Amino acid sequence: MNLELSEEQEAVRRLAREFTDREIAPYAAGWDRAESVDRAIVKKLGDLGFLGLTVPEEYGGSGGDHLAYVLVTEELGRGDSAVRGIVSVSLGLVAKTIAAWGTEEQKRAWLPRLCSGRALGCFGLTEPGTGSDAGSLTTRAVREGDAYVVSGNKMFITNGTWADVVLLFARTNDEPGHRGVSAFLVPADSPGLTRREIHGKLGLRGQATAELVLDGVRVPASAMLGPEGKGFSVAMSALAKGRMSVAAGCVGIAQAALDAAVSYAAQREQFGKPIAHHQLVQELIADISVDVDAARLLTWRVADLVDRGQPFATESSTAKLFASEAAVRAASNALQVHGGYGYVDEYPAGKLLRDARVMTLYEGTSQIQKLLIGRARTGVSAF
Ligand code: FAD
Repeated sequence: MNLELSEEQEAVRRLAREFTDREIAPYAAGWDRAESVDRAIVKKLGDLGFLGLTVPEEYGGSGGDHLAYVLVTEELGRGDSAVRGIVSVSLGLVAKTIAAWGTEEQKRAWLPRLCSGRALGCFGLTEPGTGSDAGSLTTRAVREGDAYVVSGNKMFITNGTWADVVLLFARTNDEPGHRGVSAFLVPADSPGLTRREIHGKLGLRGQATAELVLDGVRVPASAMLGPEGKGFSVAMSALAKGRMSVAAGCVGIAQAALDAAVSYAAQREQFGKPIAHHQLVQELIADISVDVDAARLLTWRVADLVDRGQPFATESSTAKLFASEAAVRAASNALQVHGGYGYVDEYPAGKLLRDARVMTLYEGTSQIQKLLIGRARTGVSAF
């Protein structure tokens, strides 16, 4: 791939960088403590077009390619992973999936609102009893006339209590061995849908993660996204691109770790000189730097493949696996550079580590990414 960014890509990165430095980074620690970002940030993200990247302009999106999308995602992740996650889910998992699979009516109904930040989306796949084995989900949608009646529970849903629309996955066919899962666009204010925020998270404390309970929710048949029984393909196609977005967010965490470690090492003195002069401190910083570069290049490769219409799912798993583990390492190394000060939230390293940790868990754990990569390389499914 050509590693030179175009003028448009440079411009959008600059815009995202300035916005992050002005509107996100200074507030991230406070939002983390308060367990909520200032929700006014959503409208600001929408105004800049960051909630509509890659979505066609005719549906209210801001167009652009996937490399621009990962550049913006990286910058947001550098400022606050909670904000990055809000965008990755509402745009990356929901709006982009509607753009790819939706009917004209569904695109016109939801995309302009999602892309402007007037509405948020959430992605309802995981359930209390089904995480990695998402295909065995038990939420049911039963056909009644021109509607489906949906009942079941969804767990750990990012944006859950803030969202206006749930991209929901439910079983529409119970025949043994049949992967009869379908996708639906369910308005969050539908009668019978209740939401409960999950508190006490280790990281990503600024974003709302929720449990959803659906008790006889009536959804018109026209709200089905994609063909009946193809919901698992809808989910997997969303996650293949979603992993690129998580990887980009991890690059942002690792870059923030590098910036914090370099800055602290230059001003903290021990043994009569700044700690940056000690070789073992430089080793910590060099290790972070290598992780940043490797994670970034793997992530850019995925975006480039997507933009060129090439297969990208295994590369996306590779980038997500490496970048998430790299972000944890980088944040931990940055904390080490800070010594005891890294352990208190006056400095950013602790939050970076807490936020990074979940990246190895969601959108497929590191073990699941390895099984996906292993299957692609050997032709054998070891799930
Ligand atoms: P399990 O699947 O029970 O896994 C437990 C352990 O077993 C893991 O280490 C796993 O790697 C391992 N394991 C499982 N199967 C295998 C196997 N075959 N081989 C080897 N190891 C295996 N979900 C959504 O649908 N939408 C969201 O917006 C969303 N946001 C989230 C936000 C947060 C903060 C969190 C924590 C989770 C979120 N999730 C969301 C859910 C997330 O995707 C799941 O937690 C994840 O897929 C893992 O599922 P699980 O927690 O049930 O773990």
